[in-house]
Amino acid sequence: MSVRIGVTGATGRMGREVIGLAVDRPDVSVVLAVSRDPDGEAVDGVEVSPAEDLEALVEDREPHVLVDFTAPEATEEYATLAGDRGVAFVSGTTGLDASQEGTLDEAAESVPVLHASNFSRGIATLRAAVADAVAELPAYDVEVIETHHRGKRDAPSGTASDLVDAVEEARDGRTGDRVHGRSGHAPRSEGEVGVHSVRAGAVTGEHVVVLAGNDEQLRLEHRAGDRRTFAAGALDAAEWLTDRDPGRYDLGEVGR
Ligand code: NAD
Repeated sequence: MSVRIGVTGATGRMGREVIGLAVDRPDVSVVLAVSRDPDGEAVDGVEVSPAEDLEALVEDREPHVLVDFTAPEATEEYATLAGDRGVAFVSGTTGLDASQEGTLDEAAESVPVLHASNFSRGIATLRAAVADAVAELPAYDVEVIETHHRGKRDAPSGTASDLVDAVEEARDGRTGDRVHGRSGHAPRSEGEVGVHSVRAGAVTGEHVVVLAGNDEQLRLEHRAGDRRTFAAGALDAAEWLTDRDPGRYDLGEVGR
């Protein structure tokens, strides 16, 4: 059975990738696409409607799952709609605050919800590698450097925050401060993790985790070559999610 998906943020960078990939996949069909700023043009042959029409379109086209890459305020609104309408919800929007996370939790009482700040397989592997490295080298200083295109709105990236979470988990909760960039008189304190956000050009996404002792440095690095890798992960998640009970799910559970 083909999974019927609805795409929000359809004219954004990720929305276009999701639609472009979905139209090539026999296991997925795009039954609706909406955008806050539809320009009248179809994306890969899929008509894009105004975001205000989403509720009516959901009722009419009966998607199994909404795939959302937008902005936190929009994700919150769409998660609520998905919960109310009984539609599973996959979102990759980053920069959600605690209240917006809470809205996803509420939706998850009615429908399956999967949120991931990075849908690439390589990043999942990087996270595991970072946890291992920090456990092996507990005294080493850790810094995270992320680089994204000039249009990215939130900083640090959701992925960088996830990587710092992995560092803290590997340190058994012995957490220092997260220091976001440094300027002026700013010596390093014990256990702190520096997080540095570079915004430049058209970079899809790069994350480097540096572990440094006095005499050596270990650098673990991931570079996303193309946004298709995120879109593919989101579509795999959408397909998997349609058979689940209501609740919150992690990307690591997909395919298990
Ligand atoms: P983009 O700016 O190119 O597109 C965002 C889309 O959301 C646009 O269509 C825009 O009109 C829409 N939008 C923005 N604010 C809205 C609002 N208030 N109401 C309705 N629609 C709204 O951004 P992008 O590069 O496609 O990224 C979108 C999100 O996905 C960001 O949060 C980004 O960090 C995240 N992202 C996640 C992953 C991942 O793997 N999880 C990968 C890439 C990007």
